[in-house]
Amino acid sequence: MRRSIISLTIALFACAAGIRLWAGGEVIILDYHSFLGSGSSSLDYSLADMGAQLDRIRALGYTFVSLDDAIAGRIEGTANVVITIDDGNRSDYEAYKRVFEERGIKPELFIYPFPIGRSRHALTPEQLKELAGDGCGIGAHGFFHEYMTARAYERDPAKVMMEVTRPAPALRKLVGERPRLFAYPFGFGCPPVSQALREAGYDWAFTAGDKIKSVDFSDPRLDHFNVPRTIVYHWNRAQIFSYLATRQGLARSSRGESDQREISLTRP
Ligand SMILES: [Zn+2]
Repeated sequence: MRRSIISLTIALFACAAGIRLWAGGEVIILDYHSFLGSGSSSLDYSLADMGAQLDRIRALGYTFVSLDDAIAGRIEGTANVVITIDDGNRSDYEAYKRVFEERGIKPELFIYPFPIGRSRHALTPEQLKELAGDGCGIGAHGFFHEYMTARAYERDPAKVMMEVTRPAPALRKLVGERPRLFAYPFGFGCPPVSQALREAGYDWAFTAGDKIKSVDFSDPRLDHFNVPRTIVYHWNRAQIFSYLATRQGLARSSRGESDQREISLTRP
């Protein structure tokens, strides 16, 4: 009893002093979309450009880790980056084979299953299965890729709930395993959706937007159903790289203490 009172006192003191008692390592989670090299979308990159970005991140001293390893705490320090890729565009296959695999990077693919096997713009079922076999994580990203925000839920809750319930059985059929991770289509959910995801057996759900913040999965304050990811657009790419470089500089000058602020990336 006395021991637990002492621990509680230390925890309260640490909290008040802003000292962290957990240190499971930190990650920055980046979010990409396609690798067609079309030149017409702020979300699309060529394979050469993607490779150059990865090399630059590594040259800044960051280690690429899988989302699974980050969640399980199998990471060290504060300079870690997770690559996530949303939607299941057909270009993901070649990007993995020609860019990510040779660099030893296992991205997390967030897939909405409806177009798989139906649209020539999406991965084929065989490609998706192969990528899962290669060690890419497979998470859910809705079923039809509909909005799951509070406004969408108010308008048509049944439609939104379909995005919660339908992807898991479909993905299980495609890759043989039920997804435990979910990324909201268009980046954001709302409390009833988070609750439904929890009840449907998901462990974590990820947002996506133009803010950047490191994530410590062992932090008890982290909302499991609103874990932040940063979308890498053409317009915010320079700001992301400058943030990553500054963060490394700060970590070096403050003996490993990392910058945990949330930074808004602003459109020029
Ligand atoms: Zn998406």
